[in-house]
Amino acid sequence: MDDGCVDADLVIVGGGQAGLAVAYYARRAGLRLVVLDAEGCPGGAWQHMWDSLRLFSPASSSAMPGWPMPEGSEDPPGRGHVVDYLTRYEDRYGFDVRRPVRVTAVERCGPDRTRLLVRSDTGEQAAPAVVSATGTWRRPFWPTYPGQAAFRGRQLHVSAYKAPTPYVGRRVLVVGGGNSGAQVMAELAPVATATWVVPREPRFLPDDVDGRALFAAASRRRAAILRGEAVDGGIAGVGGLGDVVVVPTVRAARDAGLLRTSPPFRAFTSEGVVWRDGRSEPIDAVIWCTGFRPVLDHLRPLRIRHEGRVDVAGTRSVDVPGLWLVGYGDWTGPGSATLAGVGPTARDTVREVVAALGRTAP
Ligand code: FAD
Repeated sequence: MDDGCVDADLVIVGGGQAGLAVAYYARRAGLRLVVLDAEGCPGGAWQHMWDSLRLFSPASSSAMPGWPMPEGSEDPPGRGHVVDYLTRYEDRYGFDVRRPVRVTAVERCGPDRTRLLVRSDTGEQAAPAVVSATGTWRRPFWPTYPGQAAFRGRQLHVSAYKAPTPYVGRRVLVVGGGNSGAQVMAELAPVATATWVVPREPRFLPDDVDGRALFAAASRRRAAILRGEAVDGGIAGVGGLGDVVVVPTVRAARDAGLLRTSPPFRAFTSEGVVWRDGRSEPIDAVIWCTGFRPVLDHLRPLRIRHEGRVDVAGTRSVDVPGLWLVGYGDWTGPGSATLAGVGPTARDTVREVVAALGRTAP
């Protein structure tokens, strides 16, 4: 970088849990590394999630590599506990994390075009290896509906949702049948006239099954991939549209009969929506809990993005051998978009980086 340029073996783009998990193994392997993170503070996306968010699984099942998550005052912990954990995690290992640094482009460079140049809003850094770990939070996905632009009510993606207070007594649609939709619906339903708009009836995991079941499924899938077996689909997505984990708020709202669902509406009007049966209903706000897409804008100069993804073998780009992608979802490693699941993927990625650099693992 211009500000204190380091001679790095590895540049990690993104300092959330995925970037830090890679940093952990890279540091252990003796690589010189720098982490560039667009946030002002540690914690990645967890800093921005809604106030009441609790993890799907206990602290003991949410460990990053090397240092388990400490127990907090509540278990499963809230998002603030995760931010604190990740803050202490990067302090503990003394990673060179630069903030706020937004990477604007990754390009091929060097005489044989095998090195990569990472450009950012504070300078540039060349390295033989780059791991992209920019997550999905900065790219919320909104579907489009007829008449949407004319709707005069409030529309927001769940990435901008903080608390139910602004919606008390309002008519609200919560769109999306995954975990985000379930949790937001559960806290709005007691205080607002809320309808949960879902393409199909939500599938709840059994009450005594928490996120650990998703991690176990990811581990089985990972083992099958390592054995060279064909695997279909992915695990139920965390933060995606998979099976709903019945966290305490969701259970309470469900048991009280408050999780009123409806199939998608046909169109917006200026005042609300028109349902499929032709009935119009005034609506004050729509909260889109419709997922996220990988944040890959910085890879545009490499021309390797197809339909919002990059072709990878494991986590390594098929087209740019010095580039790896970690943490985006099952396509970059089963369960790698979770706290407990990213470690094995990060370890395998660093093994490949070490081999590609011609080093031997310690
Ligand atoms: P992020 O946390 O988003 O970190 C990416 C970092 O990269 C950010 O700091 C970002 O600012 C930075 N960045 C982005 N673009 C650039 C750029 N161009 N230059 C520099 N930096 C950049 N997981 C669990 O294990 N348990 C749960 O209970 C759980 N609940 C979830 C609930 C919700 C609602 C959601 C959305 C997710 C949940 N997850 C859970 C999933 C997962 O743990 C998070 O999505 C996690 O934040 C992903 O980590 P990450 O490091 O890949 O991405």
